[in-house]
Amino acid sequence: MRQQGIKIEKIFYCPHLVSENCNCRKPKPGMLDEIRRQYPSVDFISSLMIGDSVADIAMAASRYVPSILLHSAESDLPLPFRNAKSWEQIEQLITSDH
Ligand SMILES: [Zn+2]
Repeated sequence: MRQQGIKIEKIFYCPHLVSENCNCRKPKPGMLDEIRRQYPSVDFISSLMIGDSVADIAMAASRYVPSILLHSAESDLPLPFRNAKSWEQIEQLITSDH
């Protein structure tokens, strides 16, 4: 990623157990709210959430963050949201947006 000019600024994660019922476990939006608190200039509408679970996509949708589900489903059944089976497909989706 560094070769592409992408720098990882910070890593957010949920350190809690399901039984703790925290607000940062996806699909709850707490992690995105924390990002917004720490980085108020981040424009969610211009951001992209890439996730490997429907919980990731649901969290992104709850704060209007565009998203792509990276999955390995065998079937080609249509999914009700943007999705890809590889990073190459994600790159195609992103570059065809413009
Ligand atoms: Zn948590």
